[in-house]
Amino acid sequence: MKPYLKRAWAEISLSNLRNNVNVINEMIGENTEIMAVVKADAYGHGEHQVSRCLWESGVKYFAVSNLDEAIAVRNSCPEAEILILGYTPPEYGQTLADNNIIQGIVSSEYAHELVKYTSKSIRCHVKIDTGMGRIGLKYDTPSECAEEILRLSECEKLSIEGIYTHFAVADCDDSENIEYTDKQEKYILDVYSELVSRGLKLRHIHFANSATISYRNSTKSTLARAGIIMYGLCPNYPMEINKRLKSVMALKAVISHVKAVEKGDSISYGRTFIAPEDMVVATVTIGYADGYSRLLSSKGEILVHGKRCAIIGRVCMDQLMIDVTNVQAKAGDIVTLIGKDGDDEITADELASICSTIGYEVVCGISKRVPRIFHEGEE
Ligand SMILES: *Cc1c(COP(=O)(O)O)cnc(C)c1O
Repeated sequence: MKPYLKRAWAEISLSNLRNNVNVINEMIGENTEIMAVVKADAYGHGEHQVSRCLWESGVKYFAVSNLDEAIAVRNSCPEAEILILGYTPPEYGQTLADNNIIQGIVSSEYAHELVKYTSKSIRCHVKIDTGMGRIGLKYDTPSECAEEILRLSECEKLSIEGIYTHFAVADCDDSENIEYTDKQEKYILDVYSELVSRGLKLRHIHFANSATISYRNSTKSTLARAGIIMYGLCPNYPMEINKRLKSVMALKAVISHVKAVEKGDSISYGRTFIAPEDMVVATVTIGYADGYSRLLSSKGEILVHGKRCAIIGRVCMDQLMIDVTNVQAKAGDIVTLIGKDGDDEITADELASICSTIGYEVVCGISKRVPRIFHEGEE
């Protein structure tokens, strides 16, 4: 990091990432391989270094959301198997083939469009909508679905290597939702066996996201599409994940200014905070333009020398204020917004829960302005 950027930064622990890959490999068993989900710049962690680290840890399969991300992973890992989970404009069929990218087939119509734009065969996995209601082939029965996949498999320029589906409520532990996921899983397993019995033996069938890996048996999924747990966060906080998984991202900033504030003084925009007594207030060099949510105004906490300090008043675009009355804080001190300091830890999941969102959105939302610093130490 350029020293003058020592203002707000994210520390990405590659050793924790590697640890998580090992833990997930134990969780999924021998017949399932990790497909690392590195969409959205590896959930905000930095696609290139994360993909390289995963590749060097033995991960062969990667999943992304679009062509741009696929090409980025192709550049990071020339030999990787890369699946685009969602839509690529069909006019880019040739680009997919030229870069050896596997495309998710969102519908039959889409498959027919796609092949118009390529001279070579396009590798693909067919998405089946078993209950997520988003993309994929949707038929009343598994045999009708299999029938359509068999028809698609006759298309010369489509090389179908697998089928996959996505679960809507695999992160829930009540009986109704478990039953719903059981049905989704049974549907795709039935499609697969129907295909096998009719002579189409596909290499892959996959349905395991982080929640499935964590809370269900994913051994029948040939690939485990690990996203959030690979980064050490929970699919459905505060429902616990494997305790050996570790957060990969920490978020740090600096104290720029410390001052005494008198009872009755106001802090920040809107004067929402009025000091109830004399106190010491520090200004911190991070704000909502860095992706630190404004919803944390007067709600979030920050670790300063291992102690929690409350955010007071509104979070600004580039700065925020905290109460350091009970901590020895001075300008230049480093503070922890996400991560461990001393015996305490603030997780992205904790911040998400204050903001009524999920940890995914917190880490994906850390903005471009925040440099990612990659290191080998533990967080
Ligand atoms: C994003 C995504 C995943 C990863 O989900 P996590 O909950 O982060 O594991 C898996 N499959 C599909 C289709 C996705 O879009």
